[in-house]
Amino acid sequence: MGQFMPFAGQVLKNLFSKPATTQYPFAPKEYPERTRGHVEIQIEDCIMCGMCMRSCPPGAIEVKKPEHQWTINRFDCIQCGYCVEKCPKKCLSLVPGYQVPAGEKAVCVVQQPFDPEEEARKEAAKQAAIKAAQEKAAAAKAAKEAAEQAQS
Ligand code: SF4
Ligand code: SF4
Repeated sequence: MGQFMPFAGQVLKNLFSKPATTQYPFAPKEYPERTRGHVEIQIEDCIMCGMCMRSCPPGAIEVKKPEHQWTINRFDCIQCGYCVEKCPKKCLSLVPGYQVPAGEKAVCVVQQPFDPEEEARKEAAKQAAIKAAQEKAAAAKAAKEAAEQAQS
């Protein structure tokens, strides 16, 4: 009886306290605060700079700028958080929820909405601006040379 006494308090406490375990899978698991579950992207804010891809130690991220695609192999990701730290637009985050098991290393592809015609227009405008700047510089150089020749 004397040996039981040290446990009596614990037994009574356990009887009246919440169970330490949960009824998984019937009761969903609650993730602890700051869980490093998996990486998510806010694709609308991404500028396709590739910083996340270059900073990822296992090379789990690929950024395809021409196709406006951001991809991640979640089976290669080690949840280190470097990509989240390095993203200049803060459009990456580590959120709770782990990669579900699968038989193959499927890559998750996130497509950024874009209009190819609008992209072509922007590129044409950019090239026209570069050409105009070059022509202006050449004309200024020619005018300067002409002025120098006139003085000599
Ligand atoms: S969390 Fe780490 S391993 Fe995962 S994608 Fe980002 S940089 Fe790569
Ligand atoms: S670092 Fe951020 S902005 Fe740059 S490509 Fe990655 S997700 Fe996009």
